[in-house]
Amino acid sequence: MYQHRNQHGDLIALPVGKVVCVGRNYLDHIRELNNDVPDEPLLFMKPAGALCDVSEPLHIPVGQGPCHNELEVAVLIGKRLTKADTTAAAEGIHSVGLALDLTLRDVQSQLKAKGQPWERAKAFDRACPVSGFVAREEIDQLNDLAFSLIVNTALRQQGNTNMMMRDTLSLLCAISEVFTLEPGDIVLTGTPKGVGPLEAGDTLTLNMPPWLNIQTRVGYK
Ligand code: ZN
Repeated sequence: MYQHRNQHGDLIALPVGKVVCVGRNYLDHIRELNNDVPDEPLLFMKPAGALCDVSEPLHIPVGQGPCHNELEVAVLIGKRLTKADTTAAAEGIHSVGLALDLTLRDVQSQLKAKGQPWERAKAFDRACPVSGFVAREEIDQLNDLAFSLIVNTALRQQGNTNMMMRDTLSLLCAISEVFTLEPGDIVLTGTPKGVGPLEAGDTLTLNMPPWLNIQTRVGYK
């Protein structure tokens, strides 16, 4: 069973909750998929069952077309947030890590074309591998966090939270207008450009220097 851990592997004493995800928060990624710029945050959720530890081999669903990487900064919530202002949102952040918002791209495109919800493409079991989380106090600049994904030997995604159209605190405020965020919930803050298919046997390196440098691989199906 998945449990939250810090970057050293120690358990974090928070329950495991839902994952709230933000779509289209980086302009370069909106452009690569020819999507429109949203006037309010595009939100969707993954259930707790989608969570798993990113350092364990990743599982990709069989026979459903390409499964894309979307590397995102993940925020672990420590205090309940309902209609939060930025001060409350800042106090509500327990820690920060990285997540993969695994996405069955063809399934998502078909759902989008029919105007249907995205859960079949994004909320399946193990669709949300997450890293260990770094305590908020250890991170000086939440809005200047660099992160990257290397697949095999090629740099596939490189982002910085300073490229977000809405920063982390305004996202938490906007989300908590709609859903109460509970301690133990995780918020995924969107992906920069560089999404692409993952194949069985691929080796992935997730970086958020100087805190996280994680190697993992895509397990055989
Ligand atoms: Zn995403």
